[in-house]
Amino acid sequence: MIILSGGTGTPKLLNGLRTLIPPEDITVVVNTAEDIWVSGNLITPDIDTVLYLFSDRIDTEKWWGVAGDTFRTYEAMKSSGYNEAMMIGDFDRATHIMRSDILRTGGTLTSAIQKLCGSYNIKANILPMSDDPVSTMITTPQGKMHFQDFWIKNYGKLDVIDVSIDGISDAAIAPAVLEALEVDDEVLIGPSNPITSIGPILALPGMRKILKHKKVIAVSPIIGREPVSGPAGKLMQAHRFEVSSVGVAKCYQEIVDVFVIDERDTADMLDFDDIGCEVVRADTLMRSVDVSVGLSKQILGFFEGM
Ligand code: GDP
Repeated sequence: MIILSGGTGTPKLLNGLRTLIPPEDITVVVNTAEDIWVSGNLITPDIDTVLYLFSDRIDTEKWWGVAGDTFRTYEAMKSSGYNEAMMIGDFDRATHIMRSDILRTGGTLTSAIQKLCGSYNIKANILPMSDDPVSTMITTPQGKMHFQDFWIKNYGKLDVIDVSIDGISDAAIAPAVLEALEVDDEVLIGPSNPITSIGPILALPGMRKILKHKKVIAVSPIIGREPVSGPAGKLMQAHRFEVSSVGVAKCYQEIVDVFVIDERDTADMLDFDDIGCEVVRADTLMRSVDVSVGLSKQILGFFEGM
């Protein structure tokens, strides 16, 4: 199975799936449009969450960073008046340094992640969506800024006028992702932000065309009128999508075959009529691993029925 992932909602689901499927049979295609260079190193927040999940290091309170990490380098720099915009842990920073070193000596992001998977004894196939740099940019009343400046520096508080992805039309789907898509027919779009996490993956030239011919299940990250967490609502509005599971399904129109909404969702089923997908309900609010496992079992059942 191929899973399209951002860095919070889908990793929670992967936490269940990995108890049911051998890791060798899991390919995760991860968003890279939130990547950013900080203090000389490339941070790939979504990939790192998936790496730390599969190496049993993830901090499951925050869903980013390494559980129990220390912050000695961050604190040392702070005491010298160098304030990093992000609080980067020491182990986490080691990941960034090793990856960036490979990039600096001419390696691709895919090869850097493969090396890290080897070092962290990860058997799942974790793939950046592209080896080419792309950046989600948010246009606000204060100007156009990188997603991380909007979300971390400005706490996601600014109004959003537009969302665009710099570099996307010149970016290629990573060769390893294309290879995986050639042999695997089942694609799961996890409950991630449809604009800034799944959006960039689908915006890669040729990706939507490939996915039209696959069995695609998607899980809504919106329950009722609210995302479970994060800025998806604001960002969807900027692209004139309704903030609801119906709005998410519209983001995946022509690709998605089965759309999973939460059992508590208040959406009117008639509103899905024009979208052309089957809509099913499940408990998607993954407050515990048990819920993630339960949802994963149902998804495997839906794939079997396709
Ligand atoms: P990011 O890269 O950190 O923005 O993370 P993602 O895009 O992977 O995940 C953020 C999205 O996940 C948000 O839109 C949330 O609404 C959604 N999300 C987080 N936890 C859950 C959950 O337990 N269930 C569902 N259905 N969605 C979730």
